[in-house]
Parts: sequence; structure tokens; C-alpha cells
Amino acid sequence: MSNARIIDGKALAAVLRARVAAQVSALQGTIRPGLAVVLVGDDPASAVYVRNKNRETEAAGMASFEHRLPADTGEAGLLALVDSLNRDPSVHGILVQLPLPEGIDSARVLRAIDPAKDVDGFHPENVGALWTGAPALAPCTPRGCMAMLAEVHPDGLRGKRAVVVGRSNIVGKPMAALLLAQHCTVTLSHSRTQNLSGVCREADILVAAVGRPRMIEGSWVRPGATVIDVGINRVTTEGGGTRLIGDVDFAGAAAVAGAITPVPGGVGPMTIASLLANTVTAACRQAGVAEPEVRAQQ
Ligand code: NDP
Repeated sequence: MSNARIIDGKALAAVLRARVAAQVSALQGTIRPGLAVVLVGDDPASAVYVRNKNRETEAAGMASFEHRLPADTGEAGLLALVDSLNRDPSVHGILVQLPLPEGIDSARVLRAIDPAKDVDGFHPENVGALWTGAPALAPCTPRGCMAMLAEVHPDGLRGKRAVVVGRSNIVGKPMAALLLAQHCTVTLSHSRTQNLSGVCREADILVAAVGRPRMIEGSWVRPGATVIDVGINRVTTEGGGTRLIGDVDFAGAAAVAGAITPVPGGVGPMTIASLLANTVTAACRQAGVAEPEVRAQQ
């Protein structure tokens, strides 16, 4: 039986989006935050993400610019677009949807984005700022996870033992940096970690960002721990359909955890809401104005 609090990402994302919309409205007459999303090629999953991002950007009252380039666009063409967006004063955030087609060096494209407009937080300057404690644009998924943790732990995370499983540049590593900044004792684990189940059992906060369905079993979870499941895995059901599941065995973990995110409806919705929040942050910094302090109206 589940005793764990289920962390409702949909509801929290709605609160965050409402907060962003209130900030955008408070900025009226000063600045209208604008987000440009660039999609190269026609990967269906990426097209869905981009459509959702544009819809939510507009719903928050921000300007949304969508750039779709054909799959055979070369690196030079993409870099030229990034350069023009860097110079465009109505664009405060630039997101180049990954993965990029073969033949385009993603790292070079990400480095070409003006760090001040890098709302994905992937530019090495923002990565360095995140680890050194300078003001940074933090990657959206980890920022969303931290907002969820703040909800469960309103008194902060100081001194808690945090284990992050997965060390990617987009989730695992920035998540570890954000937890460290909140004074957690952080273990960043990966495919070569020995005794991973034992490492996970030490965690007050367990973050799974692996991409392996139900890899983390209930017996790996410390009683009372907060479990954040970033994994999104599409699996085939017995009926022949598909459904999304996380990296954590939800039923097993929910029986011992203190709080847990579901998949779907957990971390996923927080990612786009965090992108909107990053765009407001970027716009205010570029305009040299303070971010409006607002309360979200539900
Ligand atoms: P990557 O494939 O880039 O990284 C996966 C990480 O998991 C690697 O560090 C890898 O270790 C580690 N890993 C793989 N197998 C094991 C294992 N058996 N034991 C321990 N660690 C292992 O994935 P991402 O970080 O991009 O994404 C992770 C998951 O999060 C995916 O399911 C993805 O779909 C999801 N995701 C969800 C988002 C959301 O908005 N909810 C956003 C982004 C991602 P090593 O480095 O040693 O190879």
C-alpha cells in the first residue's frame, strides 16, 4: 500500500505557469519576454515538444518565435540563424531543439548561442556559472525538479543526502550542482557505479535520470525518502499499445518513499514551465530590471 505523497507535477506546473504569466503582465510596458524555438528536421517527438513550448509561451503572454528548418539544413545555415536571433532585441531566449540531424555539431551550435539568451542552460558559460555559484540560467528539467523538492521540503534541503542516478549534461550533472548549491551531500552515480542499490538506499533525496524502465526498485529506496523520477520510457503494453513509465518502479517505491513523482504527470510538465520561467529571468537580466515578485493566481 502506498503511503507516499504523490507530487503532482501537473498542478505544480500550472502554479509556475500562472506565476510566469503574472510576471509577464507586471512587465507590460517595460519588456515583453520573447522565446525563439528552432527545430531542424521533422522528428515527430521534437515537433510535439516544440508545438507545446510555443503554445505555453503564448498562453503566458510572451512572444513566441518558431523557426523550422529542413533536415538538410547545414551547420552554417543553423549558425547564421542563431547569430540573427542573438542580435534580435525582441528575442530574449533561444532554444535549439535537440537532437540535431547528423552532420551538425550540437556542441558548436550550443556554444554559438548568446549565454544571456541560453534558456536551456547548456552553454559552457552557464554550466560554469552554475558550478561556481554565479548567476546562471539553469537547465529546465533540473530547475523543475528543484521546484518540486522545494514544495516537499519547504524548510530547505540543507544537510540531506542526495543521490542522482545518471550523469548527463542535461539532467544528472546540473541536478547535482543545484542540490549541492542547496547544501545537500551529493552522490552522482552512473553505469559504472558499484553497489548502486546500496548507494540509492542512503538517499534522503533520490533522483533517477537514466532512461531504463523501472530500473530502480522499491527495495533501493530508503524509507521516507523523496523520489524524483525524471525517466520517460515508452513501453509496449500487453494489449499491444504503448505507455510511458519512469526509471523507478512506482508501486514498489511509493510503498516506502515519503514522497514520489509519477510518470507521466511528474517532472515532465515542470520542464516547459521552467523554460518559461528561464525566459522571464533572461529577459529581465537583458533589460536590467528586477524580476517582478508576484503571487500566482490559481
Ligand atoms: P542519457 O542517456 O544522456 O544519460 C543516461 C545516464 O544514465 C548516463 O549517465 C548513464 O551512465 C546512466 N546509466 C545508464 N544505465 C545505467 C545503469 N544501469 N545504472 C546506472 N546508471 C546508468 O539520458 P538523459 O539524462 O538525457 O535522460 C535520462 C532520462 O530522463 C531519459 O528517460 C529521458 O527520456 C528522461 N528525460 C526526461 C525529461 C523530462 O522533461 N521529464 C527531460 C530530459 C530527459 P553513463 O554516463 O555511465 O553511461
